Amino acid sequence: ESKYDLIIVGGGPIGLACAIEAEKKNLKYLIIEKGAIVNSIFNYPLYMTFFSTAERLEIGDIPFNCLAPKPGRQEALEYYRNIHRYFKFNINLFEKVIDVKKDDNSIFQIKTDKQAYQSKNVIIATGFYDIPIEMNVLGENLPKVRHYYKEAHEYVFRKVLVVGANNSSVDAALECWRKGADVTMVIRKNEINSRVKYWVKPDIENRIEEGSIKAYFQSNITEIRENEVEIETPNGKITIENDFVLALTGYKPDLNFLEKMGIQLSDDELKIPVYNSETMETNVEGLFLAGVVCGGMQTHKWFIENSRIHANMILDYISSSK
Ligand code: FAD
Repeated sequence: ESKYDLIIVGGGPIGLACAIEAEKKNLKYLIIEKGAIVNSIFNYPLYMTFFSTAERLEIGDIPFNCLAPKPGRQEALEYYRNIHRYFKFNINLFEKVIDVKKDDNSIFQIKTDKQAYQSKNVIIATGFYDIPIEMNVLGENLPKVRHYYKEAHEYVFRKVLVVGANNSSVDAALECWRKGADVTMVIRKNEINSRVKYWVKPDIENRIEEGSIKAYFQSNITEIRENEVEIETPNGKITIENDFVLALTGYKPDLNFLEKMGIQLSDDELKIPVYNSETMETNVEGLFLAGVVCGGMQTHKWFIENSRIHANMILDYISSSK
C-alpha cells in the first residue's frame, strides 16, 4: 500500500481548496469524502441563497459565473463540479474516515470504512453539517420532527412549527408560509437573530408583525406529541395543534472524532480545537484543521470566504518543512 504526503478528510469547498494547493506543490495527496463531492452543499435546502457573493465562494482562482449577485445551491454545485472537472482531483467519494492514528514512525495510519492508508500529513476539513444540535425534549424522535429542511411541498396545507430564529429557520418559515403552510415559530430569544441575511430580516419581521406567521418569543418547546406541541411561553405553558416540527437549531462538528485523533479542545462550552493560527497545525504534529471545523461549537466564526485561506497556510507550511 502506497504512502501519501497528505490525506485530506472531507471534500467540501475547503478540502478541495487544500487539494488545489497540494497539486501546486506537487505533493502526493488523496481526498477522502464520505458522501458526494461538496456533500454539505448537496444537503442544503433546495432553493437556498448563499449570504456570500459568488466571487467569495471561489477557490483556486477559478471564476464563479453567476447572473445574480448571490448564487443558490444549484449554481454552487455546478461550480464545484466544474472545479473538479478542471483540477481532476485524486478523490475517493462515499468512503468514510473512521480513525486517524500516528504510528511509532510518526506516520499517520488512516482507517476508512473501506480500507487503510498511510500518510505523512493529514488535514481534517470535515465541516459541521452532519450532527444536528438536539433540543432534548420528549417526542424529538418522532418522524414528524426534522433537523434538515429541503423544500416546502411536504408541509403545505399543514401546521408547521419552526424552531429557531437564524437563517435556516427564517428561510424555511418564509418559504413554507409562501407555499401555503400554517407556520408558527418558537424563538428562544426576544428577536430574530441579527445574522439573518439583511434582505430577508425585514421580510420575516413584517410577516410576524402582520400576524401571517405566528411567533412565540422567549419561548421553548417542552414536549412534542403526534398531533400537538407544548410550548413554554412568558405567559405560561400552551398547547397548539401541530403536524410537523422543523427543529433548525443548528449543527455541530464531530467533536468526538477530533478528540479520538488526540486533538485537544478548549475546556469551555465552545470546545474550540487547539491549533496554531499561522500554520493550522493542531497539537498533534502533522495533523491540520481547515475550514469551518476549526470553530468548534462556534459554527458561525468560519465560512468559505474567510477559511479558504487555510489551504494556502497549511500547504505553504507543509512544503517548506518537507
Ligand atoms: P463542509 O462543506 O461541511 O465539508 C465537509 C465535508 O467533510 C463534507 O462533504 C462531509 O461529508 C465530509 N466529511 C465529514 N466527516 C467525514 C469523515 N469522517 N470522512 C470523510 N468525509 C467526511 N458559508 C459561506 O461562506 N457562505 C454562505 O453563504 C453560506 N451559507 C450557508 C448556508 C447553509 C444552509 C449552511 C448550512 C451553511 C452555509 N455556509 C455558508 C457555511 C458553509 O457550509 C461552509 O462555509 C462551507 O460548507 C464550509 O466548507 P468546509 O469545506 O469547511 O465544510
